[in-house]
Amino acid sequence: MAKILSGKTVSARVKEELKAEVAELQKNGKTTGLAVVLVGDDPASKVYVRNKEKACEETGIYSEMHRLPENTTEEELLALVDRLNADDKIDGILVQLPLPKHLDDSVIINNIRPDKDVDAFHPVNVGKIMIGDYDFLPCTPAGIMELIHESGVDVDGKECVVIGRSNIVGKPMSMLLLHENGTVTTCHSHTKNLKKITSRADILVAAVGIAKFVKGDMVKPGAVVIDVGMDRDENGKLCGDVDFEEVEPLAHAITPVPGGVGPMTVAMLMRNTVTASKKHMK
Ligand code: NAP
Repeated sequence: MAKILSGKTVSARVKEELKAEVAELQKNGKTTGLAVVLVGDDPASKVYVRNKEKACEETGIYSEMHRLPENTTEEELLALVDRLNADDKIDGILVQLPLPKHLDDSVIINNIRPDKDVDAFHPVNVGKIMIGDYDFLPCTPAGIMELIHESGVDVDGKECVVIGRSNIVGKPMSMLLLHENGTVTTCHSHTKNLKKITSRADILVAAVGIAKFVKGDMVKPGAVVIDVGMDRDENGKLCGDVDFEEVEPLAHAITPVPGGVGPMTVAMLMRNTVTASKKHMK
């Protein structure tokens, strides 16, 4: 039976540590603040934003929620970002993506001050991750690294395969595994012989967005399997990119969905906000 890498347990531990750090900053007169901006009524985004609000309460981080209507203009959103950039109470700014279609994600992200960009999506922060000299790590890949460490498997020298090359998960994930001396292969929809590649992975990360995409015959026995997917199965039930029933008996360690990568993403957002707060205190 595989070790279950519980994001719920690890994230609770991380949040406890952060709570102590936030209290220590407060003792020194520094409030730690996060502003979350939600534009429109996307139901999934509303749930993510609520989870972030709750995590702020748990860690003692001051949070400000800015809920804007669907028809908000680029000028209005940029004006809010400018105000938050200049606000000393705010250490981190998170604009929940995706934005409504008439707004350009990159225009908004590029206007967030890089030292307040706790999602690490600003090109300055993306570039810093590339060269390995960073302040913030993108939240989902950072959370995944914590779970890999929890598996007890050292990344150094291991065959690592990432399925997916998105800017928010796949690409930075590959980079973080490379920083820890993994031998990394990044797969995508044009990859040939996917099964042959995934079958040699000691560490396999699935960030595809297709329910139960990774089957048992794609996994090396004894692998660490990380499931990033947040998908729906044929009955509308939340599931991941990995066929858990097939893969769990083979794996050394595996993340569940829900309760795996998801809670870690939120915990890493809190960590980035505390990192920003410490920098701003200096
Ligand atoms: P995305 O932007 O849609 O990227 C999906 C990637 O999968 C793309 O690179 C795509 O290749 C690749 N792909 C699609 N079909 C494939 C196939 N048949 N074979 C190999 N590769 C294939 O998705 P994302 O934003 O990275 O998210 C991936 C999943 O993670 C989603 O289910 C999302 O909901 C979930 N997610 C979870 C969290 C969390 O906190 N738990 C955070 C972020 C995302 P191309 O580039 O060639 O199109």
